[in-house]
Amino acid sequence: MLNLCHLNQFKNAPPIVNPSKINSITDINYLLDLEYKYDNFLEANQQLLDLYNIIDELLDIRNAITIQISRLERKRQIIEHNKKQEKEKKKKHSLNLTQDQRDQGYSQCQNSIKEYKCGCKIIQYKKHNQKQREIPVIQKHHYCFKHLHYLKTKHILDDELTKINIELSSITKKENEL
Ligand SMILES: [Zn+2]
Repeated sequence: MLNLCHLNQFKNAPPIVNPSKINSITDINYLLDLEYKYDNFLEANQQLLDLYNIIDELLDIRNAITIQISRLERKRQIIEHNKKQEKEKKKKHSLNLTQDQRDQGYSQCQNSIKEYKCGCKIIQYKKHNQKQREIPVIQKHHYCFKHLHYLKTKHILDDELTKINIELSSITKKENEL
């Protein structure tokens, strides 16, 4: 960092950051901004910086910034990938037969996978009974976010309605008479 004091003489000089400390910066927006400032500055003053013998140091800083950005970017991608897989796993799980159902002899019907634009997915499973005639069917539904929300709301309202009905019907019970 010996020669970097010469930077004072330049217009729009980027802030000097110790390259060894850059890998502890986790604010990607800050780094992107810094990278942009370095790129512009280096491009505009390449020859002069070379003359002052400080271009290598600045390039080191710029490279450390770029490396840290791609490191953070990769980290973010890995986290996103894991989240996606977790979601897929959950989706698969809700669509698969349980061990119990498999033991009972259920198997997937042909062409029984139905997918909908909203993201809902339904799979039907069948089972022959002893007479090989009737086929009891299990339907597994993976709900999209919107319809899952409606379903949960419906359960809550159903519970509420049950309570209300019990309350209303109890008005006329004998023990409530005056
Ligand atoms: Zn849906």
